[in-house]
Amino acid sequence: MRYCQTCRFQLDKRGFKRHTLSAIHRKGKLIRAMLERNCITHAEIARRIGLTRERVRQLAQQMGFAAGRSRHAICRMERQRKEMPEFFVQAQKRGFEVELLGTRNAYINGKLCIQRKACWHDVGRGEYKYTYLSIRQPGGRFDICAWKLPDGRFLILPKKLTGFRQTTFNPQESEHLGTASSSHYYRQHIERWSLLGRPRRSK
Ligand SMILES: [Zn+2]
Repeated sequence: MRYCQTCRFQLDKRGFKRHTLSAIHRKGKLIRAMLERNCITHAEIARRIGLTRERVRQLAQQMGFAAGRSRHAICRMERQRKEMPEFFVQAQKRGFEVELLGTRNAYINGKLCIQRKACWHDVGRGEYKYTYLSIRQPGGRFDICAWKLPDGRFLILPKKLTGFRQTTFNPQESEHLGTASSSHYYRQHIERWSLLGRPRRSK
């Protein structure tokens, strides 16, 4: 048996000579690079290289890659992770185990978490006009909602503090606490990651 360093698989002596002269050997590095990217299907590789899909499947096996079906599953998982709301990404970085439910909901420490966005909003009028952040009550089931603020931080509230349809709050330190009838003093809930409990593993 001989081992092709380029394609990284074994061939018998007679096959090896023929292999080193073949298009597959010439494109070995390219084929390997494409197989390493789970979101390129065998069919797509076949089309780009000019091989049959069956031949690509055989090569993948020879080169020691996962079967087509599991590549597809890995690809889907990678895509999901890429589209994952920023709050879940941050939670993972802090050592929390995030169990995704689809792309928008996740369980963290057994709590159903969702992410929404907070936007700047003018409150009041005249000299009592302030620009606060506006948030809406999320629909559906959840235990904890995290609103992404324009500066990238999160307002993290448990369900019991979300008894509003829409409300505003002031994220900045100022003498205006934002306690008018339409506002809340939520500053201490910004980046309140402790609401999720303890991370499973240390950072
Ligand atoms: Zn080769």
